[in-house]
Amino acid sequence: MKCLNCGVSADHYLCGCCQTPDILDKIFNEIRFYKPETCENPYLSETASGLTEKYAERDIIPAILDLFDFEISEFYYCQYYRMRRDARFEDAAIAYLNTHELDNIRTQNVLYDLIESYIPNDFIKPKKWCELIADSESLCCELYAVAAKYFAMIGEYELADAVADKGLLLCKSEENRKFLFYSPENMISRLEKQKEDTNRYRTKKPYWPATEERRRAVAMFYDEKGIKYPRIENRPEKIKESEFAPIKECFDDDIVDYCAFWCADTFSLSAAKGIYQIAAVKVRDEVVIDEFQELVRPWDGVADRKDAAKKAGVELSVIESAEDVDLVIPKFFAFVGDDVLISTGALGNQAKLISRAARYAGMREIKNEFYDLLDFAADTDSEFDLANNTREYLLAHFSVAEGKSALEKAQINKQLYEALKKYGE
Ligand SMILES: [Zn+2]
Repeated sequence: MKCLNCGVSADHYLCGCCQTPDILDKIFNEIRFYKPETCENPYLSETASGLTEKYAERDIIPAILDLFDFEISEFYYCQYYRMRRDARFEDAAIAYLNTHELDNIRTQNVLYDLIESYIPNDFIKPKKWCELIADSESLCCELYAVAAKYFAMIGEYELADAVADKGLLLCKSEENRKFLFYSPENMISRLEKQKEDTNRYRTKKPYWPATEERRRAVAMFYDEKGIKYPRIENRPEKIKESEFAPIKECFDDDIVDYCAFWCADTFSLSAAKGIYQIAAVKVRDEVVIDEFQELVRPWDGVADRKDAAKKAGVELSVIESAEDVDLVIPKFFAFVGDDVLISTGALGNQAKLISRAARYAGMREIKNEFYDLLDFAADTDSEFDLANNTREYLLAHFSVAEGKSALEKAQINKQLYEALKKYGE
């Protein structure tokens, strides 16, 4: 075997003369960042080129570390475990942090790695370490950046900004600034971007990870602070059109208890339209006794959401943070109960809209019966038939101004129904 540093024959990867902390540091980093094209150490190249598996040269590291006292190798073990995503990293890092001063750059390096290894799977364990960073002065700027990231993720926005500002201030002080591996320019831009992220979490929507497990982990912190967050579970599978039961028609002519409803649709060139708002009024004996209205986050894409925001007259972020269809639709059906659902186009376009929304909410059927005011109008008087069989005509005829929101349109359905009943008398 040859010494990886000087090439003399040796019993170990480093000969007796080369077993020094400086050479360990050099060899460790050469192996850590080893690439056949760029490696300038011929002895390492020779050894590594004999290996076939990717990163197999890293397997040499423990054998090298064993040549040194633990006092010297401890830091490299931390780095090695981290690099290999080895489960021993956490214990090794904590042991290191508990026995070394934080003003040492290596301790700071271990701390940075430890926090980065937790986020975004665990938000509890990094807390005390990030608080330690927030309370410490003159650390490497990377630590302020990672702590700011952490605090922003758990909704501690002021602390996130305070820590990021501390890092930014330090970055600008050529005398005092220290870095683990960032350049000052990159660090400044990372910290500034962090402040933008923090502000977005604070004003638009909190940080929200992709997996259910991670969502549960941050939700705990949001609950404590009263920060609203989207729901945690994944949405149900949508039901195929062929598996959805047809809408049931109501054949009663004098319905006393009912819900008048409206689904507001998003723009689409295809027949498959989504909804962005759904509303109903509950009518008992000609009197509206209750109202329901909710925004729905359009599920077909961002163009739909932009269109919905425009139509609803709200900011895009309001539409973006509206609840998903599978959360709103069950609330709607809980509100309407067993009532007959009445609207212009209740068996036409409104039926299509509510059926599609129900399918996307995982429903296989709608139990309620539907009653179409346009059919009722045509049966009531031939004046409302054929070309005049439209919502617009009825509105004009009864001098009713069209509503803007889904709720106003639902209220108008109630008005139209009562007017048509009286018209026929
Ligand atoms: Zn040597």
